[in-house]
Amino acid sequence: MINTSMDRHVAVLAFPFATHAGLLLGLLRRLASAAPNITFSFFSTAKSNASIFSVPTPENIKAYDVPDGVPEGYVFVGRPQEDIDLFLKVAPENFRTAVERAEEEIGSRVSCVVADAFLWFSGDMAEEKGVSWVPVWTSAACSLSVHVYTDLIRQTVGIEGIVGREDEILDFIPGFSALCLSDLPSGIISGNLESPFALMLHKMGQTVQSATALAINSFDELEPSIMKDVKAKFRYALNVGPFNLTSPPPSSNIADDHGCIPWLDNHKARSVAYIGFGTVATPPPQELKAMAEVLEAKKIPFLWSLKDSSRSHLPDGFMKRTNEYGKIVPWAPQVQVLSHDSIGVFINHCGWNSVLESIAAGVPIIGRPFFGDHHLNGWMVENVWKIGIRIKGGVFTKLATVKALELVLFREEGKKMKARVDNLKELALEAVGPNGTSTRNFTTLLEVITQ
Ligand code: UDP
Repeated sequence: MINTSMDRHVAVLAFPFATHAGLLLGLLRRLASAAPNITFSFFSTAKSNASIFSVPTPENIKAYDVPDGVPEGYVFVGRPQEDIDLFLKVAPENFRTAVERAEEEIGSRVSCVVADAFLWFSGDMAEEKGVSWVPVWTSAACSLSVHVYTDLIRQTVGIEGIVGREDEILDFIPGFSALCLSDLPSGIISGNLESPFALMLHKMGQTVQSATALAINSFDELEPSIMKDVKAKFRYALNVGPFNLTSPPPSSNIADDHGCIPWLDNHKARSVAYIGFGTVATPPPQELKAMAEVLEAKKIPFLWSLKDSSRSHLPDGFMKRTNEYGKIVPWAPQVQVLSHDSIGVFINHCGWNSVLESIAAGVPIIGRPFFGDHHLNGWMVENVWKIGIRIKGGVFTKLATVKALELVLFREEGKKMKARVDNLKELALEAVGPNGTSTRNFTTLLEVITQ
């Protein structure tokens, strides 16, 4: 607890999509508990706030809704990221208005702006107010780094697309070795560089270094060579994660509605494949089918978090035939599932939370990246940490799936992956321990925010 005056007010701006706002609120709960005399106003859309404020929150956090940017009567046409585009178009003005309202209601001016790093314009807001700016990067330092280097990558590699150049090596970003062009997130040199999302990340990469401090959802020991460069670029680049260990969702929020844990209790150690692709991605029907056919042919015990709408893509009668050794649920308590000693492998999309949760539980990964930072995270999993592999060819075919499962579950190389991920687990636990790096970084972060 630090000694602070009663009237300090920190504004916290969330990116209200996927898991972003919940992660930021998790960090904020820690900050608010450690600095009870400071008021924190938290801004997200009504929908996002309703979903993440469902558990008790420290009294010094006040939630404010910002409009979602969807015009009255608007009919969604199904474009990818349509909701994000609409939100971003009016986000700077909407946040500004909401912050002014909070300042009036709370009765004190904002003394620091904390924001999801995606919201690069929060830096302008902080500058206008003459206060410190603390962006929070909810993913890994590796993905932050490639966004910071976007202009250099574009100048060096060009922006004419990467078709036929997928395996070309990018060797000039400090801290990375043997990164292929296809491992970069789309929006850097491939994909639609002019989409609002790509423009947002580009702008973020160009402006984020002017932050007073940057908080990252990782830990120093995980990406040391990349962090060396990142630290040199920022006044404070502070790994304060993994958030799944430092600010896990309150236990009252985690329900095992579908009986996953009792089901796992009946399985042998390291025998079960847990399958889940996060909150956004779903493999196309032919890949779901290929995976299901392999699980059935090889009788590999599996727990599969699969949206109800995707079940129809599984082979006819699959669930009945695999009933004895397989379970499909629409949502699993993933952190608890991964910590169960029956889990031998996590088949996922290389979403950053899933990767961190796998590390924290000591579970090797079979990755099938889809978009965003998934490819880069998968590259780290396979090439840097060597705690898993990406599915060969990038998609689940029967052959690639059999080979990947055999390698990770039954081969010597799989045992080595398990040993390496266990080692990272230990390092993660040390980092968040009493004198660990993430704990010390959190103290610095708190000082910056409350000064
Ligand atoms: N998750 C979960 N149960 C599920 C599927 C996902 O608890 O059945 C959680 C998972 O623990 C993780 C988050 O959803 O914290 C997914 O985050 P990630 O970054 O991996 O992927 P995203 O959803 O952002 O694509």
